Amino acid sequence: MKAVLLTGIRQMKLADVPEPAIEKDDDVLLKIEMVGVCGSDVHYYETGGIGSQVVEYPFIVGHECAATVKAVGGAVARVKVGDEIVVEPAVACHECDQCRQARENTCRNLRFLGTPGEGNGCLCEYIVMPEECCFPTNGAITLEQAVCCEPFAIGLYAVKQAQIPENAKIAILGSGPIGLSCMAAAKAQDAEGFPQSVVPIYMTDKVQERLQVAKNAGAAWVGNPEKQDIVKPILQRHPLGIDVVYECAGQQETLDEAVELLRPGGALILIGAPRFERVSFVIDKMRRKEITLINIRRQNGCTQRAIDLIASGEVNIDFMITHKFKLEQTQDAFCLVAEYRDGVVKALIEL
Ligand SMILES: [Zn+2]
Ligand SMILES: [Zn+2]
Repeated sequence: MKAVLLTGIRQMKLADVPEPAIEKDDDVLLKIEMVGVCGSDVHYYETGGIGSQVVEYPFIVGHECAATVKAVGGAVARVKVGDEIVVEPAVACHECDQCRQARENTCRNLRFLGTPGEGNGCLCEYIVMPEECCFPTNGAITLEQAVCCEPFAIGLYAVKQAQIPENAKIAILGSGPIGLSCMAAAKAQDAEGFPQSVVPIYMTDKVQERLQVAKNAGAAWVGNPEKQDIVKPILQRHPLGIDVVYECAGQQETLDEAVELLRPGGALILIGAPRFERVSFVIDKMRRKEITLINIRRQNGCTQRAIDLIASGEVNIDFMITHKFKLEQTQDAFCLVAEYRDGVVKALIEL
């Protein structure tokens, strides 16, 4: 089968590799139809790793994908050949202490698609996944939407973990796919455990086009920290401070802005993956304000909900999709995303 191999830093090639085969009874052989380019994939492409996870070449990246079922193992009952599938990229062990506490996202034996040391990714024609990672769309959403379920599920999970109080004021620092997913999730209405009417939402980004996307998608206010102070205008509107800040940029500046923006007792939700090992906080402010810090590690159990919200029309995520490429053009797609060019938010690769 065809696969896109990372062969070095900023090096990629299309190659022929052996097709995977069904081995276990609950295995599903999936034909990949579409792949989303994620910031983490681009980290691997540009730097050869994220923190302690270092790429060994050749390596196949990619974890956001929509697929169709090509074959199933003997015990598979929930999906059948031909079904369109949202692929949950995390395979948990269901045996460790974390899994037993329903914390599959921090499973000690986690295998996540396209993660060094855990497994190759989905920028190839076929992969094998356990049935539990295959969520049929039943034709209720498009392949494009199916790809976006992965980042959107992270937004849903982050909003759930934040436990936003009623009528909260929210700021989202970083308006890429994850920041926009948090906005879409925060706006999602009428479900148990999720807020009813969360307004207004303030969003920032250094990429001007992304701010326009955020504005069009319903942000109450947008600001570019390279052009203006973003803390003052928000606090002018809400002198008591913001209730919840989602940090989706992974930058020291945004962490500092978050501490300034938050009201005492507010929550800082950390989602962005910094490219450096350590970050710092003005501890005096953080402590006096008694700010709650919540770290988000991908998502846990939100995939079906992502599909349902999109299928029912309660959430629209189509606005995130800005570019489409063929498999042969994967490197162009990665360069585009790496350089934040041409107003890119989510770039998709069609197989
Ligand atoms: Zn991702
Ligand atoms: Zn586990």
